[in-house]
Amino acid sequence: MATVSASDSTTRVRDRIAIIGTGHVGATSAYALMMRGLAREIVLVDLNTQHAEGEAMDLQHGVPLARPVRIWAGDYRDAARASIVVMTAGVNGRPGESRLDLLGRNVVVVRNCMRQLMAEGFDGLVLMTTNPVDVLAQIAQAESGLPMARVIGSGTVLDTARLRAMVGEALGVEARSVHAYIIGEHGDSEVAAWSSARVAGVPLTDFCAPDARPNFDELLRRVRRAAPEIIERKGYTSFAIASCVARICEAVLRDERTILPVSTMTSGQYGIAGVYLSLPCVLGQRGIERAIELPLSEAERDGLRASADVLRRTLKSLESQK
Ligand code: NAD
Repeated sequence: MATVSASDSTTRVRDRIAIIGTGHVGATSAYALMMRGLAREIVLVDLNTQHAEGEAMDLQHGVPLARPVRIWAGDYRDAARASIVVMTAGVNGRPGESRLDLLGRNVVVVRNCMRQLMAEGFDGLVLMTTNPVDVLAQIAQAESGLPMARVIGSGTVLDTARLRAMVGEALGVEARSVHAYIIGEHGDSEVAAWSSARVAGVPLTDFCAPDARPNFDELLRRVRRAAPEIIERKGYTSFAIASCVARICEAVLRDERTILPVSTMTSGQYGIAGVYLSLPCVLGQRGIERAIELPLSEAERDGLRASADVLRRTLKSLESQK
């Protein structure tokens, strides 16, 4: 039997991470966390308890080859003792179902999970990955009543990683030496902050001769198309988002104050307020310490405001669905 009842303690276990939803993203995130040796305990929760048990068993058998970590299939009581709860639970689209109907069903999933978690006294940080991640992070915050700093979305951490990988490849430098952000919605309205992008402190636009300059518009299009392109081939995406989950959890658990473009509630940045979207944020144990306003060109600012409008409209259409 894979399910082992964990500690009965009611206090928060600092090095415990809970993952709600053990599908492709959840299971791969657990694996990424395990291989990084980040948490001492990983608890898996899923509506399909058998599936969570199977994933827990499989992962646990890899532990002797990795770093010591206890992994088990648990319940909301176990999850509520975690420092971080990673939300990856979601439902898939039915044939002919509209995007909004699917979103409506995922809102129900997220609200339901948050209610159960809060009923067990959760007081940690929620990392939302379920799509549309910005809207669902906002709904999770409202439902849970947790401080905004402690309900975040994985946002454009993934898109930014994709952009840096592609720019690095185009320029012939390692991706980590490319400092560039995608901000706004994790979706089609996202904005590449090209005007503040740098390599070795050199503006991206000056880094290479004009005739060797990559086509920036095309790079952004490739970033936006990345998920559907992968899904077309393998049916889902998992490794890159799991790497993002592990990196965000690391920044929080180690109180790194690392800057990552996670999804957070806006409070007047660029004249935008009251809607979750991604901006570079200082991230540590208390969650988001502050969101940073990058210097943007006029066109980028307009793009970001348009992205915020897309998200506002989605939230509004959900209200009218109630
Ligand atoms: P999946 O279908 O493989 O897994 C979803 C899991 O959620 C299933 O195991 C299911 O049983 C579980 N689940 C459903 N309802 C539940 C509930 N009420 N309580 C607990 N568990 C429940 O899907 P996946 O490929 O793992 O993707 C999960 C989500 O992550 C999707 O919304 C997907 O779009 C999103 N995603 C986001 C990013 C990102 O960058 N934010 C990247 C990839 C995928």
